[in-house]
Amino acid sequence: MSQTPRVAIVTGAARGIGAATAQRLAAEGHSVAVLDLTEDSAKATVDAITEAGGRAIALGADVSDTEQVDAAVRTTAERLGPPAILVNNAGVIRDNLLFKMTDDDWDTVLRVHLRGAFLMSRAAQAYMTEQGWGRIVNLSSSSALGNRGQANYSAAKAGMQGFTKTLAIELGKFGITANAVAPGFIATEMTRATAERVGMDFEEFKAARAAQVPVRRVGVPEDIAATVAFLASEEAGYVSGQVIYVAGGPLD
Ligand code: NAP
Repeated sequence: MSQTPRVAIVTGAARGIGAATAQRLAAEGHSVAVLDLTEDSAKATVDAITEAGGRAIALGADVSDTEQVDAAVRTTAERLGPPAILVNNAGVIRDNLLFKMTDDDWDTVLRVHLRGAFLMSRAAQAYMTEQGWGRIVNLSSSSALGNRGQANYSAAKAGMQGFTKTLAIELGKFGITANAVAPGFIATEMTRATAERVGMDFEEFKAARAAQVPVRRVGVPEDIAATVAFLASEEAGYVSGQVIYVAGGPLD
């Protein structure tokens, strides 16, 4: 089914899952605001989209800062048109066992994932309700089910699920759906950093993880981008408030 061209914002889209998602949405004909901490860091994704014949702009904003978020969403509307698709993907990890986790480790992770998704969604929904159409896709994680060394991250990612379901309930009558994608292990800079933390070579780390996954491979950013693209599509209009685990197999 061909998509009506819309305006999308993807946060944390300088690399990894966000970059793949921005490129995928652009390939489907949407104009994409590629948002990351700095405009400069977002430029490579914009270039990739433009070279492939798509339309994109780079935006620098910290998703946990109200003023920066409001300005970025306003700029998107001015330069590309009113945003109708929002992918809350920006994220950080500050892993540590509970007894070693600092206040800052906790606050930083909760602030970027949860406050970030809240601020971005609040700013974008104003444009979506006006259009009577919207798609919000939030990045959760298999860590929402609990993961050693990630008390902060798993709390944030479980929080994303409750946040998503509430948005689905509140915004449904405006033609807006909200869903969460919960990836398992995806090969990105984030998981490379995890390998480094546990002192393992990234290739060995990936091979060890792949052996535990029913489809016998680790995920790639495009696996997540494809799922996000479906949830952002016209035909996903009756799917809302759901959490889709994309992990190569079922999780407990
Ligand atoms: P990544 O490679 O680390 O990319 C995350 C991007 O978000 C980076 O470009 C980062 O910028 C940006 N970012 C961080 N803080 C930000 C802020 N305050 N405002 C704006 N942008 C910010 O991560 P990824 O692996 O692609 O993960 C993307 C999302 O999927 C995250 O929400 C993550 O939790 C989730 N996820 C990933 C996996 C996995 O296995 N990789 C599994 C489950 C869920 P800087 O580089 O400047 O920090």
